[in-house]
Amino acid sequence: MRRDLDQLAADTYDVLIIGGGIYGVCAAWDAALRGLSVALVEKGDFGHATSSNSLRVIHGGLRYLQHGDLRRLRQSIQERTVFMRIAPHLVHPLPFLIPTYGHAMRGKEILTLALLVNDVIGIDRNRLEDSQKYLPPGRIISKKECLRLFPDIEKRGLTGGAIVYDCQMFSSERLILSFVQSATKAGAQAANYVEVFGLLRHGDRVVGVKARDLLNGSEMDIRARVVVNTSGPWLDRVLSLCNGHFPNRRLALSKAFNILVNRQLIPHYAVGIYTRNRFKDRDALLSKGSRLLFLTPWHSRSLIGTVHLPYDCDPDHCWVTEDEIQDFLDEVNEAYPAANLEREDVCFTYGGLLPMDNYGTGGVHLLKRYRIVDHKREEGVEGLVSVMGVKLTEARHVAEKTIDVVFEKLGETPPKSTTATTPLYGGQIQQFSDFLGHEARRKPQRVTADAFQRLIQLYGSAYPEVLKYLDEGSVLAPTKTLTCRSENTYSLSQPTGGQSAESFSHPNDSSQAGNCSLVRAEVLHGIREEMAQKLTDVVFRRTSLGITGKQEDDTLTSTAAIMAKELGWDDKRTQREISESKTFLAART
Ligand SMILES: Cc1cc2nc3c(=O)[nH]c(=O)nc-3n(C[C@H](O)[C@H](O)[C@H](O)COP(=O)(O)OP(=O)(O)OC[C@H]3O[C@@H](n4cnc5c(N)ncnc54)[C@H](O)[C@@H]3O)c2cc1C
Repeated sequence: MRRDLDQLAADTYDVLIIGGGIYGVCAAWDAALRGLSVALVEKGDFGHATSSNSLRVIHGGLRYLQHGDLRRLRQSIQERTVFMRIAPHLVHPLPFLIPTYGHAMRGKEILTLALLVNDVIGIDRNRLEDSQKYLPPGRIISKKECLRLFPDIEKRGLTGGAIVYDCQMFSSERLILSFVQSATKAGAQAANYVEVFGLLRHGDRVVGVKARDLLNGSEMDIRARVVVNTSGPWLDRVLSLCNGHFPNRRLALSKAFNILVNRQLIPHYAVGIYTRNRFKDRDALLSKGSRLLFLTPWHSRSLIGTVHLPYDCDPDHCWVTEDEIQDFLDEVNEAYPAANLEREDVCFTYGGLLPMDNYGTGGVHLLKRYRIVDHKREEGVEGLVSVMGVKLTEARHVAEKTIDVVFEKLGETPPKSTTATTPLYGGQIQQFSDFLGHEARRKPQRVTADAFQRLIQLYGSAYPEVLKYLDEGSVLAPTKTLTCRSENTYSLSQPTGGQSAESFSHPNDSSQAGNCSLVRAEVLHGIREEMAQKLTDVVFRRTSLGITGKQEDDTLTSTAAIMAKELGWDDKRTQREISESKTFLAART
């Protein structure tokens, strides 16, 4: 994966994609697999925006039943299966427990019906060869069993619970990188830190973009027969580059966020809790008058969300305020007092912006369906297609539909998309559990079993690409030891014991030193093979060094030292990178 801006400027592409969030990277992969020449430009790092802030759930979409949207339910179930098939190392089943109360909307009767419909519509959900991906049918449990599983739940009016299976991503960041790797291996040219600041026009036709390399300020034209705008929250801003063609368009945005807390509140299940509703869903066929939040186990901690709030500011300045975090903690503590969360329990805040249907009403009314807009049809501008996506889960499907439109615009019959069945980079795995067991035999002696397993979970079948750098990682001995974290692993639905992040700083212990070499190998791999340009790219997206939120100075300094050597940074640049990483962290912890 090489960042080759000369090549980008030299060629004329069939399709150029603006934005390297999940929607952009899926589109790039689909187009490249179907034989188109593809360029993808991203103004930050791949996946740095909305896409790395999700709750990490690949939804089957049980919630869509509330809106009577069976088509979307079916589609989400199918996409969940697709993700497990193409990224078996990163997407795993996770049971969700939804407690039942009374006999109305939160009652067992309605949920029994919902589970039945869900199972019938998802009848083929287990058509995968991998038994680790098996999703049992939903089931209703008694009050006694519910309390056994989840003793601290609100007991007033409790009648039992519903258990339904969905999926969780081990790392959304690495999932996005797997798409970029796959797209570039299929021939796409991708570049991060390249911002589109103008659209090239020929009459009413868009024929490419004007772009700026944000790392050195140089500008270039990139030519393409069709331009696809997958800039997420920046969609309007990109359209405004069309010089007045879209004067009244306004994409209303909602701020959504989750918090990561440093305790595993419930180890084996994601659990739904009902909090007092501040967001009324005007479209729901059956309104519950309360909000369902999920406490999900993730990397030995708990990821809790999702909160939705109206937002009317610059997408470049979206962060979660202290007041919003405190309100959210109060809301969770009120609904689930046993959590007893305090501000210092929060180790990371994941916030992003999502499209809404309404503007200026003060409420939150999320877009219910994705939109693919051919601007020829809507505004008479040829060669430009915009995509508005609502769920990460749907992105591959939407990409397939988008590239169908691109073929139509190119005047060609679209060949069949194969992204639903082609394993992603790292996804060449038949049976995930067997793969883990089998590959364990290849563990280098100097690395611990936990660290090796984590490597396989993050990189899947591509892990040898990282191991290539292990020897180099061990001779690279920065003056300060890199803090290497051993995150607990195996299956996300069955954590192996909830050990917390472990700090290896004793240089004389050979396995700890081996683990440090492995992390350094990941850093080198991120720089040389995954286009990492900045310290934040390595700490938060190429590796899981930043997962705990609280970052020791040593880790940043040691990682920056490796990057400085690799990328030729001087002291000033190195210090700037460290300080940017600290600012990034300070805004999210
Ligand atoms: C808190 C939260 C929780 C969520 N939880 C879930 C969940 O559990 N499951 C689920 O399925 N979905 C979830 N979602 C929804 C999901 O994350 C989004 O639907 C998805 O990430 C949107 O992806 P995107 O590619 O459209 O946008 P983004 O990821 O924002 O990507 C757009 C990209 O375009 C780039 N860009 C913008 N302008 C330019 C330009 N001029 N030049 C070049 N590049 C540009 C940006 O830098 C950005 O990287 C959640 C969302 C949030 C915010």
